[in-house]
Amino acid sequence: MADRYLHLTGTAPGRFLTRRLGLPQPAPLRRWTLETPRLEGPLLHLTAGASAVTGVAEALSRSGLPVVGDTDRPAAIVLDATGVTTAAGLGDVHAALHPVVRSLAPGGRIVVLGTVPSPDDHHQAAAQQALEGFVRSLGKETGRGSTVQLVRIPAGGAARAAESTLRFLLSPRSAYVSGQVIELTAATPTPGPAADPAAPLTGRTALVTGAARGIGAAVASVLARDGARVIVLDVPGAREELERTADRLGATALPLDITAPDAADRIAAAVPDGLGVLVHNAGITRDRRLANMPADRWASVIEVNLDSVLRTTDELLEAGVITRGGRIVATASIAGIAGNTGQTNYAASKAGIIGLVRSLGPRAAADHGVTVNAVAPGFIETKMTAAVPLFIREAGRRMNSLSQGGLPVDVAEAVAWFAQPDSTAVNGQVLRVCGQSLLGA
Ligand code: NAD
Repeated sequence: MADRYLHLTGTAPGRFLTRRLGLPQPAPLRRWTLETPRLEGPLLHLTAGASAVTGVAEALSRSGLPVVGDTDRPAAIVLDATGVTTAAGLGDVHAALHPVVRSLAPGGRIVVLGTVPSPDDHHQAAAQQALEGFVRSLGKETGRGSTVQLVRIPAGGAARAAESTLRFLLSPRSAYVSGQVIELTAATPTPGPAADPAAPLTGRTALVTGAARGIGAAVASVLARDGARVIVLDVPGAREELERTADRLGATALPLDITAPDAADRIAAAVPDGLGVLVHNAGITRDRRLANMPADRWASVIEVNLDSVLRTTDELLEAGVITRGGRIVATASIAGIAGNTGQTNYAASKAGIIGLVRSLGPRAAADHGVTVNAVAPGFIETKMTAAVPLFIREAGRRMNSLSQGGLPVDVAEAVAWFAQPDSTAVNGQVLRVCGQSLLGA
């Protein structure tokens, strides 16, 4: 559904009126297109104190942006704050960013590099945790479609592990991601021939559940754009829509209810050469307050959104169907973080997804060479949110730092970042794609 308010504030009279009334001023977001694949302008590389990781300059030089030490109009700013280990050291963060933050171009990016707060050094932990509050506040201040994130690299580690993450965050692909903290592991990408930057998923098979429409169809489209052979799965009742989506993307349709007892076997049979990317996107809502919720509404949501994800993940991993270097991406929701009236079942299922990825991620990497992550979408413009009553819909759209809803492609770009062959250090993470929603902030 069109966001008429966003159009209104894009006109001169509309902007005048809404400013006078003190209403939110959403900036149109610049998303990835073939014609605009990267940010326009230089990347300003700053350091607060001495760096505690190696290879930051090299990693930034591969971000696709020209890196400079001084400019009056940066498209992106990366502040290396990995060496900040004391409260006094936080002064260096202020000193580095205070003079330049106003010069960031509209739709710009700020990424602060930090390290993991130490369980053994409470001064270091305090200073590094302070960066989280700093980033989340700056995300609420920058405006004009700009975003701010914190990326933690293990102290003493190599920034090489952060390359795929920096490429994503410093590009139009992360337009609706802000205020996020991403904690990388020390795992470095498996050596091998560098992936084709225009089609990094070439040679991989990706399967997306719930992909007849909405977010799932967008995920399938972006994975196909990135070179994957794609299989789109949806319930047999959605067969026609599924086949239309498959035809449009040059994908293969697999009509299958993901809750079927033999779902994992049917998926395995459809991918004789194994599966490189598995995206659990299928999801349903059956809203009622708990006092009015019959057991069947509770059970169906837990079954589709959580239990079938646990079951198929376990079976496909154990059977070796997901190949080494493979990626599992599940779909949570900010409802699973913030909770929502009428959604005890849905929020429980989506919080369960967060528990799943945090617990399984490290073990799946150790035992199978597979990463497990989740996206947690906020308010995304789909059929589901178009059905929400007008005032609640408007509140959902505006209650975030970017003052607008996201698009299915925003979630899809985040999934594609998890799926990158060199995203090996991204594991057990939950990325909110919510424009820094106030809900559960
Ligand atoms: P949607 O209803 O448009 O699409 C969901 C798809 O999943 C449908 O095509 C449906 O047929 C399919 N599906 C449902 N049950 C299935 C089953 N048992 N087996 C196979 N397929 C099944 O929803 P959407 O808005 O595109 O949401 C996609 C995912 O994102 C869901 O997991 C949803 O919970 C999550 N999400 C969406 C939003 C949002 O704002 N739209 C916000 C947070 C999370």
